[in-house]
Amino acid sequence: MLSVSEAIKQLVASAKPATAIESLSVLDSLGRILAADICAAIDVPPADNSAMDGYAFCYAEAAANQFKLPLSQRIAAGTAPESLAPNTVARIFTGAEIPPGADTVAMQENCTEKNGIVEIDAALKAQGNVRPRGQDIQAGQIILTAGSKIRAQEMGLLSSIGIAVVEVFKPLRVAIFSTGDELIEPGIPLNPGQIYNSNRATLIGLIRSLGMVPVDLGTVADSSEATDAVLIKAAEMGDIIISAGGVSVGEEDYVKDAVVKAGELNFWKVAIKPGKPLAFGQVNNKPFIGLPGNPASVFVTFVILARPFLLASQGLAEIAPRFLKARAQFAKTGEGREVYLRARLQDGTVEIYPNQSSGVLASACWGDVFVRQAKGQSIEVGDLVDVLPYGL
Ligand code: AMP
Ligand code: MG
Repeated sequence: MLSVSEAIKQLVASAKPATAIESLSVLDSLGRILAADICAAIDVPPADNSAMDGYAFCYAEAAANQFKLPLSQRIAAGTAPESLAPNTVARIFTGAEIPPGADTVAMQENCTEKNGIVEIDAALKAQGNVRPRGQDIQAGQIILTAGSKIRAQEMGLLSSIGIAVVEVFKPLRVAIFSTGDELIEPGIPLNPGQIYNSNRATLIGLIRSLGMVPVDLGTVADSSEATDAVLIKAAEMGDIIISAGGVSVGEEDYVKDAVVKAGELNFWKVAIKPGKPLAFGQVNNKPFIGLPGNPASVFVTFVILARPFLLASQGLAEIAPRFLKARAQFAKTGEGREVYLRARLQDGTVEIYPNQSSGVLASACWGDVFVRQAKGQSIEVGDLVDVLPYGL
């Protein structure tokens, strides 16, 4: 059986990075992946400007005049200043450009103005309160690289250099279906023998949270005909196919055989808990990932295994998960597989949900991190353990 790290390696290595590109307004680019490096054409800020409301002057001149100088101009933000007349000060406001000839700003709280003469606190430092041109970004600098994700702060950074439109990868279309004769859709009364389909909603949410487009093929009956047919349809409609359920060894599990028939199966079974039965293959040259059916397994295997593959396919450069360390508030004996416990992180300590059954989806909602328990690792209270924020 593949280890989790071997499975991730194999998945990521087989991902074909996106090539389809579109231009988008920066304002609509949240969560998208940049398709090209971004080079700044200007300095930010474009000129020296004042960090304070106060007075701008030449420090050497002020020192030579006992820090008492006449007022010669007023500079508000958004105006272009004139050169500072020698041996004078300018009234200046936050964000306004420093006039040529000045090198220092005194806060208004450290100055007194009387009859057009300004007295400055002599304890002031030269060059104080000036935000120099280019302190944030310099013209010619690559500020963001292809393959990086645009978050709110990147939207702001792009705007700060005057960029209104960016080239990003088109979002992947992920075809999804759930399998199981027991499943019915929420909103309909439950009959004996039935359960509501929760994986459909979880998968739609997970795919959207990655900025991708779910193509929902609904629920598929437990039969080889229905499974064969949905796989072909999914390969036509999506760039990538993800299913939930029907991938185990029971007589009513048709997914694995259908993939073998329609394409190829690259691996099946990963040493992860929850979620051992996990299929990866190709159907009509479209990658296929068959997740297990249990709702908590779907959550764990999607985040740990499917997500890196999807992100690599979408063109994201940095996909390695960033683990943290925290002190366990719980004890747990080691297992024969790598375990991902649904947990809650607070003040450097981590507590797990009491019921870690693969059927208990509430475990995933209770907290915000996984604790990774290595194969065979027993955890004692107070141990430092590996923690992975869901990132969702
Ligand atoms: P399976 O892998 O198809 O054997 O499913 C494993 C377990 O997960 C069974 O108890 C199923 O009833 C349950 N299950 C499968 N698919 C779903 C789904 N879409 N929503 C909720 N539970 C499911
Ligand atoms: Mg089933």
